[in-house]
Amino acid sequence: MSESTKYIIITGGVISGVGKGVTSASIWKILKWYGYKVTSVKIDPYINYDAGTMRPTEHWEVWVTSDWWEIDQDLWNYERFLEVSIPRTNNMTTGQVYKTVIDKERKGEYLGKTVQLIPHVTGEIQRRILEAGKWFDFCIVEVWWVVWDYENIPFLFAIKALEHKIGRENIINMLVSYLPVPNHTKEMKTKPTQQSIKALTESSGIIPDFIVCRSPYPMDEVRKSKIVTYANIPIEHVISAPDANTIYEIPLVLLEEKLWEKILKKFGMEKKEDYNKAELQKLVNNVINPEKETTIAIVCKYLKEGDNMMTDAYISVSESLIHAWANLNAKVNIKWVDAKDIENRWAKDILEWVDGILVPGGFGSSGIEGKIEAITYARENNIPFLGICLWMQLALVEYARNKCDMQWANSIEIDKKTPFPIINIIDSQKEILESGDMWGTMRLGTYWAILKESKTLDLYKNSESRYKRDYERMKEIKADVNEDYRLWIMSKDDNVVLERHRHRYEVNPKYIKDLEGCGMVFAGYHVRKDGTKLMEFIELPEHKFFHATQAHPEFKSNIHTPSPLFYNFVKAGLK
Ligand code: GLN
Repeated sequence: MSESTKYIIITGGVISGVGKGVTSASIWKILKWYGYKVTSVKIDPYINYDAGTMRPTEHWEVWVTSDWWEIDQDLWNYERFLEVSIPRTNNMTTGQVYKTVIDKERKGEYLGKTVQLIPHVTGEIQRRILEAGKWFDFCIVEVWWVVWDYENIPFLFAIKALEHKIGRENIINMLVSYLPVPNHTKEMKTKPTQQSIKALTESSGIIPDFIVCRSPYPMDEVRKSKIVTYANIPIEHVISAPDANTIYEIPLVLLEEKLWEKILKKFGMEKKEDYNKAELQKLVNNVINPEKETTIAIVCKYLKEGDNMMTDAYISVSESLIHAWANLNAKVNIKWVDAKDIENRWAKDILEWVDGILVPGGFGSSGIEGKIEAITYARENNIPFLGICLWMQLALVEYARNKCDMQWANSIEIDKKTPFPIINIIDSQKEILESGDMWGTMRLGTYWAILKESKTLDLYKNSESRYKRDYERMKEIKADVNEDYRLWIMSKDDNVVLERHRHRYEVNPKYIKDLEGCGMVFAGYHVRKDGTKLMEFIELPEHKFFHATQAHPEFKSNIHTPSPLFYNFVKAGLK
């Protein structure tokens, strides 16, 4: 444990989705501006070991870290706001904690002891928090949902006990709460927040030092005083966080409230460097007052939860479009299209007015033919097209069927009996798949790809900073290669890009020549240790913009450095 690490514990009040993640990421951003080294831990009290097996309409997007971990989408907040790579150790679930404790018990590490929730489980929670915070000036710990959720009890107990272990002076407790304004009274209500303070204090003994109040508009002094009376904290520690035009404005909103100066003061610290908010301010202004606009259709399948239309299963994709918007100063109107609707109607009826068609990743066969139709429509009508993961696979299926005379071509994920399995499972994965270990067959996390001279290479090269940084990071990355092999790759080709992956099936090498013969360009590939080449990028050079990748570039995009593929896709669609 670093003697000096300071912990900021973020809990939530009143409702879930109140903005803990964005608040935490904003705190990180400004402390970093002030010259400090910051990290964070997200606590997810569900039993799942990771977020990989959860249905997108239940838990929304599964996000992937660089180090091969399927994780809760909230962690991406940090990467969206900051140019950092969040490691897998920054996420803990109840499943992970219990598994560690049970494994230790089986190995006899607690020999003679009765293994209990307290102190063994809570001890493991503390160990993980302290381990993540090691070497950093600040560690932000975000506890999911709201303070009275039963599943949070062991975590809040462990956090309370940390106060004793590392000293109360090294911890700030921050409750992020919500002040609703009911339609019929038009009055901003503090009672639900008062209840949350009570629940937090009574259930765990944690006393909030700061209360960040999310609300539709700024709080007045009367509301702040009500919270002060209830929570017994100085009025400067009640922070007004009204709804912003965009989440990227929140650091600027909280800057107005001088939250960071107050945090540093509470810890008895000073800022090390002066911040410069000009760049963020400019990007936020572009989002609020864009000069141009464009309309992009996202054709996908996880759009409904009951009667609610929810788009969070594709949050990285829609945020990546906002990153392009901020940097191009061009508003992106998103038209959400359920792929099944295209199966029942003409693609033209639904897609005629859009400036670009984006098809994000997915699993299984539902809505597939609709998506293939959308691809044909984009290809034949010279409409900018960006296909991600499954949609690179299907763009090849579409091309094989319609341009290479391979009727009934398909991916074996969708049609096991297809005469042209354009997309297949590679041999080494077959055995694992047969053994029933679905997770073991997933290609997860960061993989490098070599780009040939191509339009795709130009897109990456032209986004200078990102491209160069990737190449630099290549020297450090612990990819699935040994040292000699890594050096070999690097000596061979400078045009290496790194993107994250989450998929199982691959382009079948048997059909590459045929597809190339019909005009398809394979612009980039990864090479496995055994020499197998895995196709990563495709393009149609004659088309206005027709690109697809096996990777998920949306997992790496952020407000300061948008993904080159998303950026140029939006640009191609501008009128
Ligand atoms: N289902 C496809 C595969 O497993 C693509 C996955 C995805 O789009 N993330 O290969």
